[in-house]
Amino acid sequence: MNNRLYGNLIFELSHPGRRACSLPENRFGSYEVPDDMRRSQDAALPECDELTVVRHYTNHSANNFGVNNGFYPLGSCTMKYNPAINEEVAAMPEFANLHPLQPADTCRGALDVYDGLQRALSEISGLAKFTLNPFAGAHGELTGLMIIRTYHERRGDTRRTKVIVPDSAHGTNPASAAVCGLDVVQVKSTPEGIVDVDDLRSLLDDTVAAMMMTNPNTLGLFERNIPEIASLVHGCGALMYYDGANLNPMLGVCRPGDMGFDVMHINLHKTFSTPHGGGGPGAGPVGVRKGLEDLLPGESELSVGPYHGNFAVLLRAYAYILTLGREHIKEVGPLATLNANYIKESLKDVYELPIDKTCMHEFVFDGLKDKSTGVTTMDVAKRLLDYGYHAPTIYFPLLFHESLMVEPTESESKDTIDGFISVMRRIAEEAASEPETVRSAPHNTPIGRVDDVLAAKRPVVTYRQMEAGE
Ligand SMILES: *Cc1c(COP(=O)(O)O)cnc(C)c1O
Repeated sequence: MNNRLYGNLIFELSHPGRRACSLPENRFGSYEVPDDMRRSQDAALPECDELTVVRHYTNHSANNFGVNNGFYPLGSCTMKYNPAINEEVAAMPEFANLHPLQPADTCRGALDVYDGLQRALSEISGLAKFTLNPFAGAHGELTGLMIIRTYHERRGDTRRTKVIVPDSAHGTNPASAAVCGLDVVQVKSTPEGIVDVDDLRSLLDDTVAAMMMTNPNTLGLFERNIPEIASLVHGCGALMYYDGANLNPMLGVCRPGDMGFDVMHINLHKTFSTPHGGGGPGAGPVGVRKGLEDLLPGESELSVGPYHGNFAVLLRAYAYILTLGREHIKEVGPLATLNANYIKESLKDVYELPIDKTCMHEFVFDGLKDKSTGVTTMDVAKRLLDYGYHAPTIYFPLLFHESLMVEPTESESKDTIDGFISVMRRIAEEAASEPETVRSAPHNTPIGRVDDVLAAKRPVVTYRQMEAGE
């Protein structure tokens, strides 16, 4: 990888007249394209030889970081290994060439996959029925909230406009509620990081449509008061919504349906084998408890939306579930939990652990324990890049100033995890002995620190061709 040699933009490597192809002689005669359909100037395309093009893109691809080339302990988003065999299944032409409007009797196999996955998700979650339509977690939340809104409307209960969301929730929860036209009301967390039941009690009345919960919550903690919360919420006539974006710690341990949840979504692209990130493909199936099935998309005139979702993602999920099988899927939750707790316990003497409890699949540090060095969570995250690791989630959740959120996932070996622990300890030592090295990291990446604010507010995403004489 050498960006200086190969340039950053293919346009910068262009030489007028250089070609990567030669077309055979035209044997068909020529036709004049009418003037009004022609460009007045040639398209500004890069002109390069074949090997330059190949090297340019190959070297850029080597700058990508993914689960396939390194440890990726991103909290809240479950970046785990997704078996390559599932990619092969998803690419099979029999599946890949299906058309969404194809007659049902020409795609029985695909419909079997659809049914099988629906049933597997019901069994895993304890809910009666799933729609596989939604294309993402956030899309699932919106679908689920629309189902809840319709449920109330159908009962003539039109005053219910509020959705209660914990202050630790993922940002999509309040956003989905707002898009659904509902008002967001925040419920506080206790000092130990779970929903404050007393605060919740004070918010409940006959204007509440639903309570959204994430479990384990965004701090990686198990919400142990769910039975009480569910009975309070149901007692006031509202429904319980479960954000199951990251279901891996629950697999084989407990089921949202058994805890009193009415509606939930699952992110297949986090828990069930689809590589994600950068807005890549996803699926956020929504499940409902018995009695709400007819509100699912395509089920009745009350329901929303007709199609069958992001089928390639559904296929990968089904292949993954069948590969693990009923027996091995039960190991996912305990392993995800074990790995996270092992890292937490191995590092809590040098990183600040604000909530010192057994966590589930992830946990949050509040920066380095020794605050006197001036080394921030951002610096630690940047320094990790030098050692070949993807950074954990930083500055989220917003409950702490220096949040550093780690999720190792169930799929990493002990050696990999021990390697990460030793690098995190080394960075803590560097912060004390040579803080400037950490503060000015990264030193080994093609690009150092970028101006995040400028990049977010005024992103430059196109290349402006220099005009002649400029
Ligand atoms: C990722 C995530 C979401 C949103 O899922 P998308 O597929 O990104 O829309 C919602 N809630 C939680 C807890 C998540 O981790």
